[in-house]
Amino acid sequence: MQVIRLFDPWKSPLCTCPKKFSFDPYTGCGHKCIYCYATSYIKNFYFPRRKKNLLKKFKKDLEKLPENSLISISNSSDPYQPLEKKYKEFRECLKILQNFNFKILIVTKSDLILRDIDLLKNLRCAVTITITTLKRKIAKKLEPKAPLPKKRLEALKILAKNKIPVGLRLDPIFPFLTENEVEEIVKEAKKAGVKHIVASTFKARADSWKRFERAFPKISKKLKPLYFEKGQKIKNAFYLPQKLRRNLMEKVFKICQKYKIGFATCREGFSNLKTSLSCDGSHLI
Ligand code: SF4
Repeated sequence: MQVIRLFDPWKSPLCTCPKKFSFDPYTGCGHKCIYCYATSYIKNFYFPRRKKNLLKKFKKDLEKLPENSLISISNSSDPYQPLEKKYKEFRECLKILQNFNFKILIVTKSDLILRDIDLLKNLRCAVTITITTLKRKIAKKLEPKAPLPKKRLEALKILAKNKIPVGLRLDPIFPFLTENEVEEIVKEAKKAGVKHIVASTFKARADSWKRFERAFPKISKKLKPLYFEKGQKIKNAFYLPQKLRRNLMEKVFKICQKYKIGFATCREGFSNLKTSLSCDGSHLI
């Protein structure tokens, strides 16, 4: 296959995702989130580009997929990033998908998804939207080119009203920076109609850590020893100490229980902190 691949998150021993396929309509992403993991394995990631003959290859790949497959779009780059506004290639992909019966999980940070409600309504699909903070100032530093969190909440609300199942990616959470916003975010998600939340802590990689240090010099001073002295390295990522991660995830878990929203963690290794049937939200489909 050429543009659809079996999802393989760097063979992470902590990944709990169900078997699924992965499709990225673009290479790279223009949202420019400083914590992005994909920058470490895709060249010039912040300079997104189109894929040659995408639609033709996409259709061909779909024809080879086993029946009832789950396709996650996207795991590396946002399908509703700025390029999509101009080229509408993902919209064309959604049109192609109307002729198949696959399960589609869309992951985005953009309210541009609302443009495609007409097509999404006809698919077996669920949408998860990432929100890491509700504060404009912090969002502008963490996710400089992505739509503001308010717009994402609004998008969740509208999708839910249109009977498209929605989940929230509370991912990543940063101690000393965004951890105190968790309850507010969960509360807003509940109001918007979110049925499932997946959370995780920031896992630093060499390049994302440098960007974080530049954007938040004071906080990174406090976090540095936690990541690089007391924490653990798992594959290519630096994790916070396990106890700290567990405490943080337990806090989110309890808040989700309070608001009666399903919960799971992403690549944290705490399988007991789970009330949803899947971690990625695919059970909503
Ligand atoms: S939206 Fe996702 S893929 Fe795009 S830069 Fe941000 S974290 Fe990376």
